[in-house]
Amino acid sequence: MYDVVISGAGPSGSQCAEVLAKAGYQVALIEKDVNWRKPCGGAVHSSVVDLYPELKKLNYPKIRGVVMYSADYHILEFKGASSEYSIIIDRLKLDNIMREAAVNAGVDLYNKHLSFDYVIKNQKKIGIKTKSPNGSKEFHANLIIVADGMSSKLAIKSGIRLKWNINELAIGKCAILEGNHQLDKESVYVYFKPYQGYGWIFPLNDKRFNIGIFTFGKDNLNYNVHEVYQEFVGNPNIKKYTQSSNYNVIWSSSYSFPAEGVLDKSLYTDNIMLIGDAGGFVSPISGEGIQTAVISGKIAAETAIKALQDEDYSKNTLKTYRTNPEIKKIIRNFKQKSSMINFFYEKNGKNLNKMLELAELDSIFREQVINMFAFGEMPSKDFITKLKS
Ligand SMILES: Cc1cc2nc3c(=O)[nH]c(=O)nc-3n(C[C@H](O)[C@H](O)[C@H](O)COP(=O)(O)OP(=O)(O)OC[C@H]3O[C@@H](n4cnc5c(N)ncnc54)[C@H](O)[C@@H]3O)c2cc1C
Repeated sequence: MYDVVISGAGPSGSQCAEVLAKAGYQVALIEKDVNWRKPCGGAVHSSVVDLYPELKKLNYPKIRGVVMYSADYHILEFKGASSEYSIIIDRLKLDNIMREAAVNAGVDLYNKHLSFDYVIKNQKKIGIKTKSPNGSKEFHANLIIVADGMSSKLAIKSGIRLKWNINELAIGKCAILEGNHQLDKESVYVYFKPYQGYGWIFPLNDKRFNIGIFTFGKDNLNYNVHEVYQEFVGNPNIKKYTQSSNYNVIWSSSYSFPAEGVLDKSLYTDNIMLIGDAGGFVSPISGEGIQTAVISGKIAAETAIKALQDEDYSKNTLKTYRTNPEIKKIIRNFKQKSSMINFFYEKNGKNLNKMLELAELDSIFREQVINMFAFGEMPSKDFITKLKS
């Protein structure tokens, strides 16, 4: 019997487990495979780096530069706020650093355990059933936290939300390639497309980079991600940074993420909370989800601590997870981004093309575009009039 059982030891599950263990609670962290490399660009916000001394010690280049291309290849280069930065890391490394921090805090990590259902007693979900090479096992706990990503079966079986439909997802394909490149190691490279989605190149070091592309929403059905990936890696505007034709493919994979943000009433029920991708904590348009996964894990842990202290695991107690100011701020920000999708991508991305074209010619407009991308500022009426003129 544990205080809390968590399904999934990605960024959300590991952070949640660590906070609970540091508060003195018994936590079982269930992971299907610690050697699985989550398909991801690996761009991690500095607020996450700050939480993990082992990550900080690695001294990755601090990325503040953005090189952004519109679908018709107008270019906008800028540097983000000086206090914030990103690092680019191989996800296998990141996830294992986070898991190790949880284990060092006292969490019991169960590797090679695939959770597939709840243990139910008197119509109440009181634990998780897993399959492992040694057979089936049950983990009983007062609280269950679902952190096993976008394809979570437990999220659906909880009754909290339905399975995502294809229009609510982004579908991505990415790879880590090894060979010579001409990328600035303190910048990320983003390529908007005439369809809903974008491509990226993120430098990992002098010899390696992460490259990928995704489509989302209605364009998942109009485009095949494997084809757009092939077109992207061979594109002349990419080739100017990646001239070597003999890249060694270290790893390549495709995967999805929820693209509509957190849906209403999709985070908790009696003694269960959904965190990270399982709860929809991925930023619409940009697809960033590691930072918000970690925040949702931390807030769910704090909610769980209060519930454990009060011995009240009802949805009435757990609702403070959803009403927490940090969670509300994230959800507000996601809604803002979602509302900009049509504006960005209408008429095959023409607004984005024009935005970057005008930014090349007009320094005030350029400042406004940068504020929009770097700081999430909404475009003013004046801005939109100029764009549509
Ligand atoms: C192509 C792509 C590129 C992305 N690029 C970025 C980026 O550059 N920066 C960024 O911030 N975000 C990015 N994201 C989003 C980011 O990957 C996720 O938001 C983040 O990983 C969510 O963390 P999580 O812990 O909620 O879920 P996950 O990272 O998906 O972790 C889930 C964990 O649960 C385990 N698991 C799954 N099922 C089971 C089961 N049944 N039983 C036990 N364990 C299970 C998995 O093995 C995994 O360890 C990208 C996503 C994709 C698909």
